[in-house]
Amino acid sequence: MIKINENYLKLQASYLFSDIAKRVSAYQEAHPDREIIKLGIGDVTRALPRACIDAFHQGVDEMADDATFHGYGPEQGYLFLREKIAKHDFQDRGADISADEIFVSDGAKCDTGNIQEIFATDVTIAIPDPVYPVYLDTNVMAGRTGLYNNGRYDGIVYLEGSRENGFIPELPDKKVDLIYLCFPNNPTGATISKSGLKAWVGYARDNKALILYDAAYEAFIRDNTLPKSIYEVEGAREVAIEFRSFSKTAGFTGTRCAYTVVPKNCTAYSTSGERHSVHALWNRRHTTKFNSVSYPVQKAAEAVYSDDGHRQIRELSDYYLKNAALIRQEMEALGYACIGGENSPYIWVDGQTDSWKFFDLLLEKAGVVCTPGAGFGRCGEGYIRISAFNSYENVQKAMARISEALEGK
Ligand SMILES: *Cc1c(COP(=O)(O)O)cnc(C)c1O
Repeated sequence: MIKINENYLKLQASYLFSDIAKRVSAYQEAHPDREIIKLGIGDVTRALPRACIDAFHQGVDEMADDATFHGYGPEQGYLFLREKIAKHDFQDRGADISADEIFVSDGAKCDTGNIQEIFATDVTIAIPDPVYPVYLDTNVMAGRTGLYNNGRYDGIVYLEGSRENGFIPELPDKKVDLIYLCFPNNPTGATISKSGLKAWVGYARDNKALILYDAAYEAFIRDNTLPKSIYEVEGAREVAIEFRSFSKTAGFTGTRCAYTVVPKNCTAYSTSGERHSVHALWNRRHTTKFNSVSYPVQKAAEAVYSDDGHRQIRELSDYYLKNAALIRQEMEALGYACIGGENSPYIWVDGQTDSWKFFDLLLEKAGVVCTPGAGFGRCGEGYIRISAFNSYENVQKAMARISEALEGK
């Protein structure tokens, strides 16, 4: 008899985006002439930078000729891309990372989801609340949790975000082994200071733990005192893996290219306490299960590091940050406390009411779609996430409508 992985039965169906879609289409039916503005999405809306498109085209043309054709590439990614990443994203910022510590992949979603495979099933996991759901669900699938009770999985240590801590969780008060962190954060837009990150690195070193650091939104950091990489913190190489993606940085959500950094001296342990190289484990996993990103896509990603590419991706994130600033300014003017939107494309708004009530209010009164914070975890209740991924014109229109609807409320 073929049996299923029963851990899958513990998973909670995510109704978040289907619930949103249902409410939006019901509203549209009732108001067929109303133009709805979507500020709920976590996907970019603007075209790939010119430099990337040109390199992409060139890469495709090379595939059309036997003399320049590329078959399977190195599983870890082409060296031409990994060398640029190591230099521009790390070495130039004083972070000691080399090309052979970088694994190019087709997405940070896959990498943050797959990485748990190389660790034991009985490690204790610490996961933020609210959270990007991939970290949690992949550990449920792997059997690292008990059942779902009252909004929480048994066996997970939840790192709670709140108004008081500004959605930067405190260090756990018990011992954990694997820690997921994401800064600038999705969904809250919160950022962490270098000293804040230092405390986490210190915790990991003291407890022989490992940090999984998701930096998918680093391109939105404008405050130069904030760390873009966890490796800007001394001692992080032994205790941290970092995930990056070209998705939000350069508009690659539909093109697919990302990378994971696993330093050569990053360490985990066998049951007997013997030290093992996490790099060697991940290299084994990656080369066994993955066959590299297509050549033209890696060429397109490489172009991000050219002078033109660099300027163009900066323009992209500047554009979204201008939207974010407007959203935050307008919500604060209306009396709503906000987090994010300064070094992040997300604005996390304290709705002063139930998340879904506030969602319905914005939809009914302003025709604007946001994301209810409760969909990201228990600590998200009472908040909404507004995304800056839309055109400036639409954001202006949306904020004018919200102001009109909520003024004097
Ligand atoms: C968008 C996003 C990613 C990037 O995912 P890709 O698979 O590279 O497109 C990673 N982490 C978080 C938190 C995200 O929001």
